Amino acid sequence: MSNKTTRHIKAAVFAAAFLAFSHLSDAQDVHIAVPDITPPSGADTVSVVFIGDVMMHSRQLGYDSREFLGRIEPLLSGADIAVANAEFTMAGPPYTGYPRFSSPDDYACDICRNGVDVLMVANNHILDKGSAGFRRTLDKMPCPFTGAGRDAAEFAERNPLIVPCKGMRIAFVNFTYGTNLGGESLWPKVNRMDKDAISAQIARARERGADFIIALPHWGVEYSLVHNRSQEEWAVFLKEQGVDAVIGAHPHVVQDTCFIGSIPVVYSMGNAISNMSAPNTQLGLAVVLRMVCHNPSGARSLLRPELHFLWCSLPGEIGDNYLVVEAEDHVSDHPRMKQTLERVKEKTGIE
Ligand SMILES: [Zn+2]
Repeated sequence: MSNKTTRHIKAAVFAAAFLAFSHLSDAQDVHIAVPDITPPSGADTVSVVFIGDVMMHSRQLGYDSREFLGRIEPLLSGADIAVANAEFTMAGPPYTGYPRFSSPDDYACDICRNGVDVLMVANNHILDKGSAGFRRTLDKMPCPFTGAGRDAAEFAERNPLIVPCKGMRIAFVNFTYGTNLGGESLWPKVNRMDKDAISAQIARARERGADFIIALPHWGVEYSLVHNRSQEEWAVFLKEQGVDAVIGAHPHVVQDTCFIGSIPVVYSMGNAISNMSAPNTQLGLAVVLRMVCHNPSGARSLLRPELHFLWCSLPGEIGDNYLVVEAEDHVSDHPRMKQTLERVKEKTGIE
């Protein structure tokens, strides 16, 4: 993989409200408490921020995508590693939105320019333009990606994707419940929700010296604010396989969070960027994980996750472009955002 991420050590710390996880009473092995004001950011701590679905609906094609994530660039660049779900292909022109996405080649560059370091590609839209479009998408990726591979060697290398940072090795295992369309060829291949395969990838992460293993499933029921039984069964399975956190995407809305044992589970981060305006779809989550190496013992621990509510502002709301912002900064001026935030907090239990 590229050395970009390994060389890329970001220093800034962002001020943020710490939002409590719901169902904290389920936690059996409570993590080290996060300080109230300044989160740890020293040489012994790796921070990783995750955001949900980055989409490009047809109406978005007429807007400057360099600005979409500009307002949360400090949040993304303030973490050592920023990870987003690339729910689009770069299959070449003509550019198309839903239901078969093909976005301009610059789109992924624009996302990365605003601080994203790693893109997840295991999602249901990755084969929207067939195997050729899938391959072209991976060819055009400007940053490390996970959840797929163009051949067996690359698939093994990227599933899990190991990102070294500050002397620690963070493993990402990204996989999808399925794809809307099938491919015409075996390669490139997307990582699918197969228990034997995922179990083997988690084991390989450990063999490759991962200090922390983060599972990134693309799963769940669209527009449901609560997880379903299948997600819960998979989350328990992933915990049993030894992952340190589960952070999901796909439903286009935020879902509830919990701890299973000591493992934090964010069932769905919702959308990051889209043209969606249906109830709850403009609200998303950024999830910040902090992983600490305690010297001199070398013991590792994962701190309690920090959640930030994001809002994808459509043209005419906050500005004249698609702008992802931190909801807390704007909620008092935007009644619909306020109503949505209150409704989602109530349904998900996220405070
Ligand atoms: Zn999806």
